[in-house]
Amino acid sequence: MANMIVAGNWKMNASKSAVTEILSGLKQGLVGTSGAELVVFPPFPYLAQVQQELAGTSIRIGLQNVCAAPKGAFTGEVSLAMAAEFGVTYVLVGHSERRALFAEDDAQVAAKYVATQAANLTPILCVGETLEQREQGQTLAVVNAQVQAIIDAAGADSFANAVIAYEPVWAIGTGLTASPAQAQAVHQAIREHVAKVAPVEAASMKILYGGSVTAASAAELFAQADIDGSLVGGASLQAESFLAIGQAAQ
Ligand code: PEP
Repeated sequence: MANMIVAGNWKMNASKSAVTEILSGLKQGLVGTSGAELVVFPPFPYLAQVQQELAGTSIRIGLQNVCAAPKGAFTGEVSLAMAAEFGVTYVLVGHSERRALFAEDDAQVAAKYVATQAANLTPILCVGETLEQREQGQTLAVVNAQVQAIIDAAGADSFANAVIAYEPVWAIGTGLTASPAQAQAVHQAIREHVAKVAPVEAASMKILYGGSVTAASAAELFAQADIDGSLVGGASLQAESFLAIGQAAQ
């Protein structure tokens, strides 16, 4: 079984033809990626196409965002039951773009996390500090508070079926990557924070690093004791660069 997860967040990018191009590239280039479970997070309209094109492969499908409510008058939202019909396995909750651009707070993120687990899907909880918070020495306090909001709402043992993605906001889409030592320090702190209340779950839970990861930076990041893969944005839009990150997990 793959030890790592390499997850590609396409954000609001792609087209029907781009989906086919990326996925056919991924399917042809899987050799050497067995160290990582590969997951793609397409925009909602392409879920059916992605499900069809990935049928019979080991590549998993994720959702970039979800509505915590089961159904009804929530114009523009997508439910977990809908996602499940398209073979979705993972759901991103609390991505920094959702927090910053769509004003999602810890309570909304927790509701999405709880609903995702109740639907038997796996949340990937995104946490991370801004540059200002890092410069003020608040990184661990900010990240641990984001994790604590989930512990309060769902219990620390919920991390038996969840993944955490540490994504410093200043590294997302900027070309800046946390150094392996900076990332490892935060990953270790997150694991220790969860271990205070759920040591077994903390030891086995996967913590991904995200923030301008490329094939060039991936191997050294993946060599860190508490880094279990990556959440990749820009580099997931080309099969070649995404596969190279997957190969770095070998
Ligand atoms: C992301 O969106 O989660 C991300 C890490 O993006 P990028 O790799 O482009 O920084």
